[in-house]
Order: sequence, then structure tokens, then C-alpha cells
Amino acid sequence: MRIARYRYDSGEHLGIVEIGAIRPFPDSIASLERYLELAAHERSALPLGDAAPLEEVTLLAPVRPRKNVFCVGRNYLGHAEEIARARGTSVNLPAVPTFFTKAPTAITGPNAPLHLSAELSKQYDWEAELAVVIGSRCRDVAEADALSVVFGYTCLNDVTARDLQKAHQQWFKGKSLDETCPIGPWIVTPDEVGDPQSLDIAMRVNGDIKQSSNTSQMIFNVRRIIASLSSGLTLEPCDVIATGTPDGVGFARNPPEFLRPGDIMEVDVARIGILRNTVA
Ligand code: MG
Repeated sequence: MRIARYRYDSGEHLGIVEIGAIRPFPDSIASLERYLELAAHERSALPLGDAAPLEEVTLLAPVRPRKNVFCVGRNYLGHAEEIARARGTSVNLPAVPTFFTKAPTAITGPNAPLHLSAELSKQYDWEAELAVVIGSRCRDVAEADALSVVFGYTCLNDVTARDLQKAHQQWFKGKSLDETCPIGPWIVTPDEVGDPQSLDIAMRVNGDIKQSSNTSQMIFNVRRIIASLSSGLTLEPCDVIATGTPDGVGFARNPPEFLRPGDIMEVDVARIGILRNTVA
């Protein structure tokens, strides 16, 4: 199942994406949060409304978590190596996941223009990521059970102001400016995604491939990320976890490249979809 949030006929809806169309859940279930509150047996019996053509709806961020987006830094070997190369240091692989967060106000939807202030930063950069959406309240989840708390997967672009990330030491500020966390285009449930560690993942900027990898290259896989994060820390429905980015980010390129107005970014994750945003 592909589940999307969208605007159509002046209302906001949650619905199921079909080929070329989308069918809404009842108006009382216009958010993923509400959907996840319903018991599983009620969900399966939900009636769907009339289909709208997919090209006529405005897709929105499929999930709006109330708290920060959890993120993992340096989770692909190639990315850890390019960071070390760019900084002239040796590769120092983490023993446990490097967690940081992005403010929920940074979230924006597919196709939304990104209004990135040129006064605040001269070094906006892209990061294509697979994102996990949590489906149930959980804590101390064992690796073996970790995928059972996943509601689904989506694409995420961890847009980063590199100069702010560096200047403020802690990454939060440079990772949390408004409109620097596009999510979407929809959430795909695990039955359609299959093994989350076998997905091709890419970033294209103006059609040029900047990042091209596979989620098999993660240092900490989704199971280990969930087990580590949930250890002594409660995860809740609609929590979002960004699982890290492969090599090919702008700042580590030679010479470095940063985003400019008009640039079109596409996060492409196999079996999920394409998350496209333009820099305003
Ligand atoms: Mg990232």
C-alpha cells in the first residue's frame, strides 16, 4: 500500500495511491496519526472515497511528526570516507549510530519549492536518504523484532546548511532551517518494499546523478538503528527516522558544489518513488 496526504477540492486528505489515481479515507482520517490510532481491524474495513487523478492533487508531506525527526549521520562507508577526505582526517567509523535531529518545522512536502535564505547560508547541500516511519509505540526493541514496529518507508532529503552545521558545532541548527526536510512523495508499507537493505538510492540535481548507492551499504542497518535508538527511549507512531546518506554530497566534491536557486533535486529510492523539490 502507498499512503499519501494531499490537497484536493480545497480539503486535505489521507488516501491510498493507485495507478494514476488516489482514493481518500473518510474525512475523519485525514492524517497518518489518526489512521494509526485506529485498531488494525478497523483500518482494513475503512471505506475509500472517489478516486482523484494523481496529477490533479497536491501531494503534501505524508507524515507530520509532533517531535523532531531522528537522523543518523555517517551511516554509509562511502560517505564517512568522503567526509574524512574533505577534512584531511582518517576514517573513524562510529561504534554506535551517530544520532542527531531535525526540527519538525523543517518538514515540507514533495514538489514544494524550498525557500532557502542566501543571507543565512551560502552552502546548502543535498542528502538523499531512506526514511522509516514508526507505526507503534515501542521501547527496547530487539534487532530481531525491529522491523515489526515499522509502518512504512519514504524518501527524505536531509538538506543541510554546511556553514551553519560547522559554525554551531552541534549539527542541529544547520540541519533544521525551515523547508530543509522534504519528505515523500508517499509512504510505502513493508509488504511492498520488502528488504529495506536492498534498495537502490540516488540523488539527481538538475538531472545529473550526484549520489548513487544501495541501502545494503549502510553501516548500521534499519534493524540496528531502531534497536539502538529505542534502547531506553520510547518511539511513537509517526516518528520518522532518516537513515543516513551515501557518498556524493556537495561539500565533499572536488571542487565543492552547493545548491543554487532553480536547482531541481530528486531523491530516488527504488520501490518507493521520487521526491522532487526545487530551490526557490
Ligand atoms: Mg543526513
